[in-house]
Amino acid sequence: MYFNNEDVCKDAIIETRWGKEQEQDVVCPYCGQHHCVTRKDGKFRCNHCKRNFTCKVDTIFEDSNLSLVKWFIAMYLISSHKKGISSCQLARDIKVTQKTAWYMLHKVRALYAQNDSEALSGEVECDEVYIGGKEKWKHQSMRTPKTQGRSVKTKTPVFGMMERSEIKNKKGNMEFMSYVRAMVVEKIDRATLEPIIGQFIEDGSTVFTDELSAYNHVGDMGYNHRVCNHSALQFVCEDDGSVYTNNIEGFWSHFRRMITGCYHDVSDKHLQTYIDEACFRWNTRKMSESKRFTDMFTTSIGLVKSNKEFKLCVAA
Ligand SMILES: [Zn+2]
Repeated sequence: MYFNNEDVCKDAIIETRWGKEQEQDVVCPYCGQHHCVTRKDGKFRCNHCKRNFTCKVDTIFEDSNLSLVKWFIAMYLISSHKKGISSCQLARDIKVTQKTAWYMLHKVRALYAQNDSEALSGEVECDEVYIGGKEKWKHQSMRTPKTQGRSVKTKTPVFGMMERSEIKNKKGNMEFMSYVRAMVVEKIDRATLEPIIGQFIEDGSTVFTDELSAYNHVGDMGYNHRVCNHSALQFVCEDDGSVYTNNIEGFWSHFRRMITGCYHDVSDKHLQTYIDEACFRWNTRKMSESKRFTDMFTTSIGLVKSNKEFKLCVAA
């Protein structure tokens, strides 16, 4: 499918939102009724509340004067770059100003928000990291008193959980896959982490953590708790070889590379949105580009995932 002109993009939105261009299927975004007709100028008119609307209402394109073609190309580029794309790069690629590209990235990044209703189960690794600038690189006046390079006082704690899973690949064989969920937290302590673990990991799952005391009571919460002792250099411990947190550590290093390589520096205010983006990239890394684009597109027009998949043809 080529999204090379405005009408193709509009049709894709209309078809995905309301079905095959049938007037009676169009739902008015203002009153929720089905009494809509198409006007000569291509807009819809609701005969119930008498308001006019376009297919862009209630989508991320609503308040933008940019062409849908540019939005579609941007979404494709953003979803297909493994490590993310900077606003400067996006600006060059779709020929808009850097400021516009920044706005688009911001809008698209909001689509990555993690779905709170999905729980992890089976084998789940938990781990924590601190994100933030090292004190030694900061100007003297910006340093926090009485801290040194490895202090966590000035860094933001982030907690992550990763489910080990399997998916069927194209050849029909089972392949290892992992799903991650991560979030900025107030503190790394028992009072903060236990409610999060309780909310996002299903009862009866096996939870793998390091030996941090915050996790000491995870076994009392209805989980099979397995501890990996990093301080004793046991990165893969015990007889069955499954007690480790290496998968989620792989995600943290991927996340750090994304931050340093692409965005250079991230303020605390935006950190969660970058984490959401990294989770999205990780969780969809074995999807085809077309499927990843389709999912992003579906979210951009306010729908939950569809089974549909656009077959994309990317023109050089
Ligand atoms: Zn209406």
